[in-house]
Amino acid sequence: MDCQLTQDKTTPAKIADGSKRSNRVGQVKEVTSLTNPLIKDIRSLTQKKNRDRTSSFMAEGLKLVIDALEQGWQISTLIYSKAAKGNATVEQVAARTIARGGLVLEVSEKVLGSITRRDNPQMVCGVFEQKYAALASIQPKEGETYIALDRVRDPGNLGTIIRTADAAGASGVILVGETTDPFSLETTRATMGSIFAVPIARAGVEDFLTWCNRQKVHLVGTHLAGAVDYRTINYKQRPTVLLMGNEQAGLPESLAQGCNELALIPQSGKADSLNLAIATAVMLFEARRHLLEVRR
Ligand code: SAM
Repeated sequence: MDCQLTQDKTTPAKIADGSKRSNRVGQVKEVTSLTNPLIKDIRSLTQKKNRDRTSSFMAEGLKLVIDALEQGWQISTLIYSKAAKGNATVEQVAARTIARGGLVLEVSEKVLGSITRRDNPQMVCGVFEQKYAALASIQPKEGETYIALDRVRDPGNLGTIIRTADAAGASGVILVGETTDPFSLETTRATMGSIFAVPIARAGVEDFLTWCNRQKVHLVGTHLAGAVDYRTINYKQRPTVLLMGNEQAGLPESLAQGCNELALIPQSGKADSLNLAIATAVMLFEARRHLLEVRR
């Protein structure tokens, strides 16, 4: 994002991270106007085209911002509400932002609410640089599990899957084909911070299948017509990629045919399928159970 410091109502903030930069002085800009150009730029990140153009995105909440900084994500702007002024942790985060060349905005609650589109916004949010892992650079190792998602559409599903992948110890999430944006506000909210912990890669169908062959992974598709019970799969023989189908259409033939096995989670009752994020959780924790068993 193009965020330039201007001169009006600017107050100094001390670096408080105890590092050798501790006597440098940065600047905090106070903003109360909803029409301030900096705020308009940040608000525009609710639209994908603007996130793509600037290769940036917004994350809400002090915990998420701290997680991101700890994990080396590049922050361009920290925004906090006036109510957070004087909060030692917020001031530390502000100092770290300035030390990394970022901009710090102290805003009214109304402005913060307009950015995050919430009536009761979090006190802090940050604008970060987007980061994708290059699929070609990923070389899965034995005992690792990856999730691949075919054309995932729902931001809540994607966020929940990224969070679950993190909790289940998966090594990354691969987005196959046209998917919802992992850096939308809705998705990052649903990840609860795991967006900063789980590598995300993206690929077209052909590139994905070529990579699977090259890396000799065990590609397990999940399918309502799967011939193999998901509990009987050998998740340990090679690195595993669990491939999940689109919410409406399921896995297309082009992907199903490239799988080494098609797994079914047996169901009872009248539901014809599980929700995508739930099915992913079931698969991930089954794979994890097998992997942990072998280590005992
Ligand atoms: N109507 C779609 C279909 O025919 O596949 C349902 C898609 S389902 C909501 C989304 C994805 O979750 C599926 O493509 C599959 O990957 C996974 N899934 C859901 N229930 C499953 C089950 N019982 N066994 C295996 N995979 C399942």
